[in-house]
Amino acid sequence: MDFRLTPEQEQFADSVRRFAARHLAPGALERAHRADYPWDVSRLMAQQGLLGITIKEADGGQGGSLIDAVLAIEAVAASCPRSADVVQAGNFGPIRVLAEYGSELHKKKFLSRLLKGEGVISVGMTEPEAGSAVTDLSTRAIPDKGGYRVQGSKVFVTHSAYADLVLTYVRFAPGLNGIGSVLIGTKEKGVNRGKPSAFMSGEEWAELHFDDVFVPEDMVLLKEGGFKKQIAGFNVERIGNAARSLALGRYAFEQARQWALQRKQFGRLLCEFQGLQWKFADVKLKLDAAQLLLYRAAANADRGFPSAEETSLAKLACNQAGFDAANEALQVMGGTGYSQGSLVEYCLRRCRGWMIAGGSLEMLKNRIAEGIFGRSFPQRPE
Ligand SMILES: Cc1cc2nc3c(=O)[nH]c(=O)nc-3n(C[C@H](O)[C@H](O)[C@H](O)COP(=O)(O)OP(=O)(O)OC[C@H]3O[C@@H](n4cnc5c(N)ncnc54)[C@H](O)[C@@H]3O)c2cc1C
Repeated sequence: MDFRLTPEQEQFADSVRRFAARHLAPGALERAHRADYPWDVSRLMAQQGLLGITIKEADGGQGGSLIDAVLAIEAVAASCPRSADVVQAGNFGPIRVLAEYGSELHKKKFLSRLLKGEGVISVGMTEPEAGSAVTDLSTRAIPDKGGYRVQGSKVFVTHSAYADLVLTYVRFAPGLNGIGSVLIGTKEKGVNRGKPSAFMSGEEWAELHFDDVFVPEDMVLLKEGGFKKQIAGFNVERIGNAARSLALGRYAFEQARQWALQRKQFGRLLCEFQGLQWKFADVKLKLDAAQLLLYRAAANADRGFPSAEETSLAKLACNQAGFDAANEALQVMGGTGYSQGSLVEYCLRRCRGWMIAGGSLEMLKNRIAEGIFGRSFPQRPE
């Protein structure tokens, strides 16, 4: 067993760190406070080979590993926390599911544009009445000549205010096995966006309404029975979510560490107060422990999708550690940390959202408990 990165991984992480320090550190604060997508960063990352890291070269990607993509998130976030979202969108989210299960037509039509950083794809799962209980979703795909008519609404979808494509979970038939997914362009007739809203992080989202949208047969990604495959792919998204939590927690930790080395009160540096030293020690323990779980889940996934159990443990640890790190960093930095002139309060707001998105902490614990006891615990009333 070896806990070190390989020389190639070190070299890759170093080169991304240098790229980020040079091109992304300038403007990092401003970027964090903008609601829309950083398209300039997206195109720059495409040129740099940071989109499609885990996607096969034959499909226009880099043919790298999931660990490489995690390293890219960490290296980018160390200079610009907001830009880590672009690494997520170009590697971990629905783009990866599209690359895995999409037809040649899907790849030709959508993937190349996404990999150029010129568009972004969302995943539409959540509905007003189906959040944690996602299999309760009611968006229907009703057979119609040569395809389907889709009716339903999705909420809280990341990038929904400007995405050009939505990987939409739909119901072809009743029950778990009736769920599958279709690809819907947001300019298609019958796709309507509701009034834009904002998360606590400042990111925009809009309700998506599908009013009898025609989806031709060849835009079906996974037919009925595809739910388990979709969730297997969604575990990649969860790794990206976990990686960003950890990376933003580390960013905040580093800001607070530097602050504690230069800020004086009572004639002493903050780092000389034991009450604060112990905060740093506790946070380092949480971050390093979470990182090991994250690397385990990602490294073990290199020949496929990550395991549900390892991903749940990694996401739970990283979501909690990232939030705790940002929260303690803010406390150490006092009024400066709480002010919008520092990115620490932004990291705190972002990390808070990831405790809900992509499987809330509670739902992850439910999944972990099932592994511990080797049985399933249905959450529905008898
Ligand atoms: C920042 C952010 C980004 C998101 N991005 C997307 C996206 O791109 N696409 C998308 O489709 N959705 C997205 N979502 C939605 C997200 O998936 C849901 O918010 C999440 O699944 C929870 O659903 P809910 O908000 O309806 O809460 P509910 O399901 O109503 O849950 C409310 C609370 O009850 C708890 N709870 C529910 N059931 C149980 C149980 N059985 N045991 C214990 N506790 C339980 C939950 O953990 C939560 O704390 C995003 C959400 C956020 C915050």
